[in-house]
Amino acid sequence: MTIIHNLGFPRIGAGRELKFALESYWKGESSRAALETQGAVLRQRHWQQQAGLDLVPVGDFSFYDQVLDMSFTLGHLPERVRGFHGDALDNYFRVARGRSAASTDEHHGCCGGVAAGEMTKWFDTNYHYIVPEFDAGTVFALDASRLLGQLAEARREGVKAKPVIIGPVTYLALGKTRDDSDKLALLPALLDVYAQLLETLAAQGVEWVQVDEPLLVTELDQDWQHAFNFAYHQLKACRVKLLVASYFGPLQENRYLAANLPVAGLHVDATHGQEDILSLLNLLPDHKVLSLGVINGRNIWKTDLNAVLDWLEPVAARLGGQLWLAPSCSLLHVPVDLEGEQKLDADIRSWLAFALQKLDELQVLAEALRGGRTAVREALAANAAALAARRASPRVTNPAVQAAVAAIDAGLGARRSSHGVRSAAQAALLQLPAYPTTTIGSFPQTAEIRQARSAFRAGTLAHADYNAAMRAEIARSVREQEALGLDVLVHGEAERNDMVEYFGEQLEGYAFSQSGWVQSYGSRCVKPPILFGDISRPRAMTVEWIAYAQSLTAKPMKGMLTGPVTILNWSFVRDDQPRALSCRQLALAIRAEVLDLERAGVRVIQIDEAALREGLPLRRSEWKACLDWAVDAFRIAANGVRDETQIHTHMCYAEFNDIIAAIAAMDADVITIETSRSNMELLDAFDDFKYPNEIGPGVYDIHSPNIPSQEQIVGLMRKAAERIPAGRLWVNPDCGLKTRQWAEVLPALGNMVAAARTLRAGL
Ligand code: GLN
Ligand code: ZN
Repeated sequence: MTIIHNLGFPRIGAGRELKFALESYWKGESSRAALETQGAVLRQRHWQQQAGLDLVPVGDFSFYDQVLDMSFTLGHLPERVRGFHGDALDNYFRVARGRSAASTDEHHGCCGGVAAGEMTKWFDTNYHYIVPEFDAGTVFALDASRLLGQLAEARREGVKAKPVIIGPVTYLALGKTRDDSDKLALLPALLDVYAQLLETLAAQGVEWVQVDEPLLVTELDQDWQHAFNFAYHQLKACRVKLLVASYFGPLQENRYLAANLPVAGLHVDATHGQEDILSLLNLLPDHKVLSLGVINGRNIWKTDLNAVLDWLEPVAARLGGQLWLAPSCSLLHVPVDLEGEQKLDADIRSWLAFALQKLDELQVLAEALRGGRTAVREALAANAAALAARRASPRVTNPAVQAAVAAIDAGLGARRSSHGVRSAAQAALLQLPAYPTTTIGSFPQTAEIRQARSAFRAGTLAHADYNAAMRAEIARSVREQEALGLDVLVHGEAERNDMVEYFGEQLEGYAFSQSGWVQSYGSRCVKPPILFGDISRPRAMTVEWIAYAQSLTAKPMKGMLTGPVTILNWSFVRDDQPRALSCRQLALAIRAEVLDLERAGVRVIQIDEAALREGLPLRRSEWKACLDWAVDAFRIAANGVRDETQIHTHMCYAEFNDIIAAIAAMDADVITIETSRSNMELLDAFDDFKYPNEIGPGVYDIHSPNIPSQEQIVGLMRKAAERIPAGRLWVNPDCGLKTRQWAEVLPALGNMVAAARTLRAGL
């Protein structure tokens, strides 16, 4: 009998109940007991929704982050928060979110201020975890209370519980050392605590424990391979059965290592082609359970169940009771339930599966394996019909777009002249001073803007009135920028809810869910638009707004667009064509917009690629191929303009060193980047040889309400000028200002403009 199970369930709640409970608790508007109750309600509901499974994950629920949960379980907290008084859950939030020294809670006197834990992306997903911090003196001490509590709760509910923990090797790999010591030296001590944890679970009568080791799908050097062998040999004696779970990609060269770890079971992501799986079968010891992740836990599409059965049936015949089935990874990365979606187009809806629908699919597969396909004839037929309808739908396929993509040639992505020639033409046209000042695009999204937008969406504000309100905001931001004396202005993005959704809504080939929320970190969720068909641009998207803004000033107004790679990376994308192809279609749509802006007299156009780096594969050996098509897409979007039209791009991540050649190949005239927190050291990556064009290193951190002084900015720019010739430098903030208040923005930009004047005087 094939066992079916799940690796993890979205914990935020179909109605984002956890988000609202957390935020209300943090604001002091509700009690800790109310928050704990909401957590229990969600766990109970989610277990019930998974009741059809043979094994249900327990311990996957988290009030903030599963990695931080693991740090607490391992008794391993940063020095700066150890010994805090007060409630454990409050301290947990303190580690996650930080606490200001000025906090007025009852422990402000004794427990002081604390910086928030550093966050980073969980493998190649859009989920962010809190980075464990190590040093040579790190010690661990088991605190199994959270896990045992959830386990006891699950048992009371009659749940067939399979506790889930992050594996020791992945946990170590995710953390950072503060003192350059060797993380792997901590492994033996860490394993002692894992052994105690597993023993504790065994004492509770637990049979299986899922140990997440997604590190197994990345490139491992010998030390880390050895760490895997060492770790699981050390844990071999434990009395529970371990299911080591790998996900987010195929095992590839780690197949042998994974297959031969001395554990009772292995879970693998089976959505990346069968070849990886079939060769794994030959390596797997007879006694070992193989759990195949056959339902994609990262996308929102229905699975082709018949196609899966075609290759799964022989595997099942071979493995018998040793075969388990599951989604490829935790369902944390998809929305909970399609049922709530009433506004989605019925056709598109019939092609989709969210978490609960994915578990239904799993059920159908298991029944087909147990009783033959006839046992689930109707479900399989309905699935096949939906997929056939999707394949044949004229909404998916647009021959004109396909023809345009087929006609792309190498020349399309190239500027007419080299940067040297262009920059002279641009200088003549734009007449900018040295150290030109600009901002990244957005100005504060005020309460009035939000209200106008939601009234417009609700139908209580007429289109013309909404437009008038947005124009008034644009006019305000232009006035403020002129008064500040900025050189290249922006319109402020008042009309944009979000830098991807705004474009998705205007492009053909995109659909939007009402409540397809996915947790990004803590209480923060995103609702990625759904890219379902060939992308086209029925009409200009931004030209009216930018032309209006330009009409208010003689200074150059930047056209403001989101780039194809970023739109792609922040969407749910198609599974019926390569990402690279979807990206090219997006590139053509953005290109048309760029050319329309140029035709409307816009002299500077910024194309944001905030997420360029995010889309990179987990394996470095695959980076080049990915960067090639990503850069290509940007070039197609941007480079159709005349020499005198200045193209800007903006990126807000922190590591450029290893992708600098790709960034240079994009050939934007100006790049603005987030640098202020790195004290300009980041610019080392951009030396003349590697990066010949102009650069605006961010001079202040827009995430913080602090107002930078003129001296600070001058100091940072002088540092920048040690690395980049002054003639190529721009002065700008780190990123857009939409989350700030005008009261913060005006003095900050005032100081920035004054700093630029000081720098010019000193030239
Ligand atoms: N133009 C966008 C803004 O200013 C850029 C945001 C981003 O890089 N994340 O808000
Ligand atoms: Zn940014």
